[in-house]
Amino acid sequence: VRARTNDLNLVERAAKVLPAGVYGHHSVGMLPSGYPQFFGRAVGARLWDVDGNEYIDYLCGYGTNLFGYGFEPVEQAAAEQRRLGDTMTGPSALMVELAEAFVDMVAHADWAMFCKNGSDATMIALMTARAHTGNATVLVADGAYHGAMPWCTPRQVGVIPADRAHVVTYRYNDAASLRAAFEAHRGDVAAVFAAPYRHDVYADQEDLDLDYAQTARELCDASGALLVVDDVRAGFRIARDCSWAHTGIEPDISAWGKCFANGHPISAVLGNDKARKAAADIYVTGSYWFSAVPMAAALATLRQIRETDYLEKMIVQGQRLRDGLDRQAADQGFALSQTGPAQMPQILFRDDPDFVIGFNWAQLCIEHGVYFHPFHNMFLSHAHDGTVVDETLRRTGMAFEALRGSHARLSEGETSALKRRIAERAASSD
Ligand code: PMP
Repeated sequence: VRARTNDLNLVERAAKVLPAGVYGHHSVGMLPSGYPQFFGRAVGARLWDVDGNEYIDYLCGYGTNLFGYGFEPVEQAAAEQRRLGDTMTGPSALMVELAEAFVDMVAHADWAMFCKNGSDATMIALMTARAHTGNATVLVADGAYHGAMPWCTPRQVGVIPADRAHVVTYRYNDAASLRAAFEAHRGDVAAVFAAPYRHDVYADQEDLDLDYAQTARELCDASGALLVVDDVRAGFRIARDCSWAHTGIEPDISAWGKCFANGHPISAVLGNDKARKAAADIYVTGSYWFSAVPMAAALATLRQIRETDYLEKMIVQGQRLRDGLDRQAADQGFALSQTGPAQMPQILFRDDPDFVIGFNWAQLCIEHGVYFHPFHNMFLSHAHDGTVVDETLRRTGMAFEALRGSHARLSEGETSALKRRIAERAASSD
């Protein structure tokens, strides 16, 4: 049994001085009770919680960790810049170098802007599109996540109807539904937002449908609206370019965040010449947007992306993990639904409509030192090498055996709360 004393103590203290305890996507409130909330350290593919328990981590800081926690070439570049200066009265020369590096690597991009979080980047993309077109409406896919600003945050509390007045949804990968949304708002569409492929929570991932992508491009070209690919989550885990590069269909703007500085805080908006003037005209800024250390980390990370076979290796190891898990599940009489790119796995159970089997399995994995997520897609990093995947499979093998022995890893209270939540979700998305 894993120690929990320090974690539970911190959770109790947090409840007194943080209104929701830990909030947002880092809260473990929606996860099985075995998930630790607070961490002590991270190295490579591994995390240790505040009680010293070790986990092989398949969330990778929700995608920020691409080359392994504490990856030396990036940390060294960051440390060298820290000695020179970080948040100064203006940017360092690295800002120009970083923009040049991005424009060289990402085919559709003629310019770059930098900010801190993915939500900043999607907000800048939206403002640029509105400035460019003079239109208000933004078309977003139902169930897609583009950040936590009032226009897009998934929970409506604290949001007023005016914040959402011009946000219109369509069905991802459904060209007809996109066409209908365009038609209903003819003359007022500023932007179409699209994820690189479908990576919604609580659902199988779906590859990009080419007809849908092509339709989005054509509708934008015909109307003057801007096409935005939100690559915040998948950027550089699909390609060394925009994640749509393989289709030959280019967005006008792409939003980036998470992994391109290997965990250092920086995000980016990339755009083409069509969007340049509008991007120059809007007023956006932030105290830390020009800090030099994350830019040094980003330059070092982009170099690794260009010069190593990290992507091919992640795909190989992701596939080994996927095959191994499928075998283990089948041996114990379960069937998994593993979808999306192997290096960004979504692992759900078939015939598990209320997610009870999946949550029980996730709980068992945590107890055996594997940090999986029961309803959000996951991430491999370059540090998830063959040895790490072998060790993962050794641990998940034990988790599957235990799962067959007893589904009821969650308490009765947890199970009924989960079923209630899933039923509410299903009802609200009708
Ligand atoms: N877009 C997508 C596709 C994301 O996955 C996320 C973060 N999960 C965001 C935008 C927002 O990024 P951030 O949390 O850094 O604001």
